[in-house]
Amino acid sequence: MTAVAIDGPAGAGKSTIARAAAKELGFIYVDTGAMYRAIGYYMLAHGVRPEDTEAVCANLQEVKVDIRFVDGEQHVFLCGEDVSGKIRTGEVSMAASKVSAIPEVRRFLFSMQRGFAEKNNVIMDGRDIGTVVLPDAQVKIFLTASPEERARRRYVEMTEKGMTADYDKVLAEIRERDYNDSHREVAPLIPAKDSILVDTTEIGLDDAIAQLVSVIRGQLGTDGLKA
Ligand code: C5P
Repeated sequence: MTAVAIDGPAGAGKSTIARAAAKELGFIYVDTGAMYRAIGYYMLAHGVRPEDTEAVCANLQEVKVDIRFVDGEQHVFLCGEDVSGKIRTGEVSMAASKVSAIPEVRRFLFSMQRGFAEKNNVIMDGRDIGTVVLPDAQVKIFLTASPEERARRRYVEMTEKGMTADYDKVLAEIRERDYNDSHREVAPLIPAKDSILVDTTEIGLDDAIAQLVSVIRGQLGTDGLKA
């Protein structure tokens, strides 16, 4: 099986770019952030503070996260309910960032993440895919952009969806998540030594997708890939 690991900070465009690249290459796209979000969502819904390690661990046994692909799109089921839409709020982002620092939570999701790559050609994105989950991935990419540009994109996306947004608040949340994700003890967000850096600060979405596909094809050769 072939695996492409894409790591990077929140809002660098990983999921949009990885999803498009996976389509182009005929791979399945696995978004691991959605799994942490589902756990964060569960804790919030059950009145458990995501920073309360003991309480999160005590509740973890009840959590059933299930990933299914519907028309090639990943859907996240939490205890049988499709929560794919509900996990995309700012509150759930912060909860995900907090529960993801707990080693038991990471262990809980690890074998499911590995399992996808054992059975499928995957593009998997997250924070620790190239370093911890798939250290033998054939291609590792660290996708990033400046915090200001990531906040600007998120702000535009929110206002386009008719949500009220405050740029300074979005930027502060991005910085806080960056800090949490890169300073935690387990599986911190750091580029794998053998990863290729792709910085999308100055490039638009289409160019970023083209660049990513070209990096992947260059690393893998085109054998076995859809033309
Ligand atoms: O990628 P996304 O923003 O959806 O991830 C939500 C949160 O889940 C991140 O802020 C990060 O704390 C955590 N995460 C992680 N490891 C991954 C994927 C996500 O710790 N592989």
